[in-house]
Amino acid sequence: MKKLDKPKQEDSIGKGIYESYQRRQLAKKPKRYRVRIDPLDKLFSEYIRRKSGGCCQRCGKDYGWKKLQCSHFFGRAKKSVRWDEDNAVAIDFGCHQYLGSHPLEHTEWFKEHLGEEAFNLLQARAREVGMPDKEAIKLYLKQKLEEIKGVCSNEP
Ligand SMILES: [Zn+2]
Repeated sequence: MKKLDKPKQEDSIGKGIYESYQRRQLAKKPKRYRVRIDPLDKLFSEYIRRKSGGCCQRCGKDYGWKKLQCSHFFGRAKKSVRWDEDNAVAIDFGCHQYLGSHPLEHTEWFKEHLGEEAFNLLQARAREVGMPDKEAIKLYLKQKLEEIKGVCSNEP
């Protein structure tokens, strides 16, 4: 089987092709980074990770909350569920990578993790438009974090 070569830059005809190839490659990336970081994201991520008790919610291994990643099911571009605790799990880097590259399995796993009814409700909330009440979310997250920190008093 012949591998498809990427066009060579020095070839005069190839140059235009190469440039459009480069443009396509560049155009692919920024999509993921178009969503700007909101100060609430940091608070939300900490809450999701601390809430898990430090164990990966997929494989169950104890990593400690600081090493876990906050993984959204519906991406952060969906503002209505961006800070919805049903829309995020705390998982380790390996599980995050795996689910990220297996979308069907990701959906199946997430549905099972959340339960069918909660998943359907989340899906409905994801379709809502407009910005949620960020001040209310901030107060809620701060209070929840205080509660968790109060229980685990040995944690900073
Ligand atoms: Zn894991």
